[in-house]
Amino acid sequence: MRILLVNPRGYCAGVKMAIKGLELALQRFGAPLYVYHQIVHNTYLVEHFSARGVVFVDHLQDVPVGATLMYSAHGVSPRIRQEAQARELNVIDTTCPLVTKVHGEAVRYARKGYTLVLVGHRGHDEVVGIMGEAPGTIHLVQSVDDVATLDVGKPNRIAYLTQTTLSVADKQDIEMALQQRFPHIEQPRTDDICYATHNRQQAVRKLAPEAQLAIIIGSQNSSNSRRLADVAQSLGTPARMIDGPEELQRHWFDTVGTVLLTSGASVPENLVDETLSWLQQHFDAIIEEQSIKQETQYFHVPPQLRHPRERTSPPSAVDRPDPEKAALP
Ligand code: SF4
Repeated sequence: MRILLVNPRGYCAGVKMAIKGLELALQRFGAPLYVYHQIVHNTYLVEHFSARGVVFVDHLQDVPVGATLMYSAHGVSPRIRQEAQARELNVIDTTCPLVTKVHGEAVRYARKGYTLVLVGHRGHDEVVGIMGEAPGTIHLVQSVDDVATLDVGKPNRIAYLTQTTLSVADKQDIEMALQQRFPHIEQPRTDDICYATHNRQQAVRKLAPEAQLAIIIGSQNSSNSRRLADVAQSLGTPARMIDGPEELQRHWFDTVGTVLLTSGASVPENLVDETLSWLQQHFDAIIEEQSIKQETQYFHVPPQLRHPRERTSPPSAVDRPDPEKAALP
């Protein structure tokens, strides 16, 4: 059996920053350390850090007054920031800068009186955080059908934003429907779907036709991982999502000559290595790594976790953007 090992896969710059931040925070502040929601959407990592004294909470009432609290890579709404301040929490913000960019766009458009449409998945942590920036002004659409039934009257000024981890193809369809319905609708200057989502989907799109089965390592609640399975399936390649090698079943591979193997942006590489070992052990598989794109993006951990020398250095181009200064028309 041949394994097409996809590159890029796994950790993006935002997840690397959040995980490194959590490690540093554990060293500096010790356990228990509180994180609002899952630090990233990956079951293995959540279990790993829970075992080391990290407490993942969905409500700030569960965090003792004055404790240290991290925000996950998906970001939070202003209401959570205010609540954290009221509880005098020591906040460490590991929101991905590319999510912060979308928050900034929401704030700026809302201040200018735009009606806003957010393309995203209802209930996803990132979507909840962005919608909280302008409650009552942002309308969520999840599909082309939602665009047809969107009830916003005849707005003078309207713009749309998107979740960072959408399917590129789905987003294009929804974008077209929005432009047909609102010919004057505006969009951010740069795409809200992040580079990591683009690259991982593009790689699967290119390689999936060569495989009879795609194995996507990623948790069910990971939006970007699920989209990788969607891309493979849309090209006629059946896809299976697994959290790790313990979920693999021999019979999946009965009539398979080539397997595509990739992982979502929140998946540590050791899960890929263990999956490869399982496949080699059971099928004498040959690994062929295919690299579609090099990634060089890097995000610094939040200032209070940096080495003193790093704290005084000027912010680099890849440092976290100020939401107030996010690029907007
Ligand atoms: S998937 Fe994209 S937006 Fe999400 S953490 Fe990674 S780089 Fe940031």
